[in-house]
Amino acid sequence: MTTSEIVWLRRDLRRHDLPTLAAAAERSGSVAPVFVLDPAFWDTAGAPRRTWLARTLMALRDSYEGRLTLRLGDPQALLPEIAGEFGATSVHISTETEPQGAARDAAAGTALRERGVTLVATGSPYAVTPGRIRRADGEPYQVFTPFSRGWRDHGWRAPAEEPADLRLADDRSDPSAWEVVAQAACCDEVQLPEAGEAAAQERWEWFLDEGLERYGHDRDRPDLDGTSRMSVYLKFGVVHPRTLLADLEARTGTGPERYRLELAWREFYADVLHHHPDSLWQDLRPALTHMRYDEPGAAVEAWRQGRTGFPIVDAAMRQLLGEGWMHNRLRMVVASFLIKHLHTRWQVGADHFLDRLADADLASNQHGWQWVAGTGTDAAPYFRVFNPILQGQKFDPNGDFVRRWVPELRPIDGAAVHEPWRTALARDLDYPTPIIDLKAERAEALERLSEARDARETQPTEHERRS
Ligand SMILES: Cc1cc2nc3c(=O)[nH]c(=O)nc-3n(C[C@H](O)[C@H](O)[C@H](O)COP(=O)(O)OP(=O)(O)OC[C@H]3O[C@@H](n4cnc5c(N)ncnc54)[C@H](O)[C@@H]3O)c2cc1C
Repeated sequence: MTTSEIVWLRRDLRRHDLPTLAAAAERSGSVAPVFVLDPAFWDTAGAPRRTWLARTLMALRDSYEGRLTLRLGDPQALLPEIAGEFGATSVHISTETEPQGAARDAAAGTALRERGVTLVATGSPYAVTPGRIRRADGEPYQVFTPFSRGWRDHGWRAPAEEPADLRLADDRSDPSAWEVVAQAACCDEVQLPEAGEAAAQERWEWFLDEGLERYGHDRDRPDLDGTSRMSVYLKFGVVHPRTLLADLEARTGTGPERYRLELAWREFYADVLHHHPDSLWQDLRPALTHMRYDEPGAAVEAWRQGRTGFPIVDAAMRQLLGEGWMHNRLRMVVASFLIKHLHTRWQVGADHFLDRLADADLASNQHGWQWVAGTGTDAAPYFRVFNPILQGQKFDPNGDFVRRWVPELRPIDGAAVHEPWRTALARDLDYPTPIIDLKAERAEALERLSEARDARETQPTEHERRS
């Protein structure tokens, strides 16, 4: 029997710039790319993410000329079996540092070792593997700007070449696994971009030619197509950040510089999560331990549905439901609205985002929410409360974005759409009146903040008592 080494694909669903391919090919001429559809992930992922993964897998099968082995089940149980079928002595992975993925890999590594198979990690979904960059005193960075400098100084490898003599092993898929994938891929509930490496490359080239130069100016404008929309492709590693960084290298100006910095945020949050796995669902800093929050009720449901009566919030939340994506500026605006105007814990919003975002990324999402909540690393101060009307007027100056997503408001021209209640048309519109009084709830948020601070002084946390 011809033996093949296995490349176990997870958040690296691509063929280009994939160091694990070369690592596997070095040990054997023949390589078997394998994906295991793990029910622990699949059954809990929101519909947009499942559809996106399903379409990505189908495109990946084409990239590998139909030779992608797909199985359905627990990787820890399945991988030793698959390794046996291919006669593999090694299984190659990109290092996973997210808490659940790292635990899964540790368990799979043990199960493989018992069968005499080695789990070999090469590279990671990041330009610099989380955990590598440290301060001069050896401690991890807590603040973004010095981290981003350390990250730049550390640098990264050039994109990996595909081994010239790569031979792909025959497909040993379980056909029923492909049926599950095909069924999920059909779901049209959300308008997703085209899946696969070729589509990612096409969008990236468009962005390099048309978007990058303006990126520094346009990136905060949801009414413009001013960002790269690479997040959905980065999510499952359809494109690697190293590939993007290499293309930026030859370009100068504020656009490329700014873009590199945004990629650094992704790397920073992955690093923070690696060092603080509990920060997935717990406050990273205990600053607001005593904060009083409300239980989610009708107002939070109105927020989820995009029916709060605040046009920019509703347009953003409907974009999330419609596209499985939301503009970065608006992620901050709706998060601030939920936490500070509706007095809701950040975890409630983070959970909804994880369910509805196709680009849902544990590190960026949880720490994006913690940043707004004031509980994360170098977070926005809690007293900074975004006013959704002013944010709408500033970043959607003609109201085009609101009209795109809230059809009830299309009769209103221009920026007046951000305050429909002030227009003569207000009574005829089938659009909710604002569910809260912004000024009153802002004052309430600040009152609760001051209460939480006082409580912290009189009742320090266990951690604070000990330190
Ligand atoms: C509350 C909240 C939740 C978020 N949840 C996610 C999430 O689940 N998944 C996700 O990929 N991003 C998340 N972000 C970050 C950011 O909003 C998205 O990465 C960005 O909107 C994706 O669109 P783009 O690819 O067009 O971005 P671009 O502006 O083109 O940026 C390029 C890339 O840089 C990275 N990036 C940009 N901004 C950030 C940021 N603030 N934090 C981390 N990485 C960043 C992303 O990988 C992005 O694809 C969140 C931000 C906030 C405030």
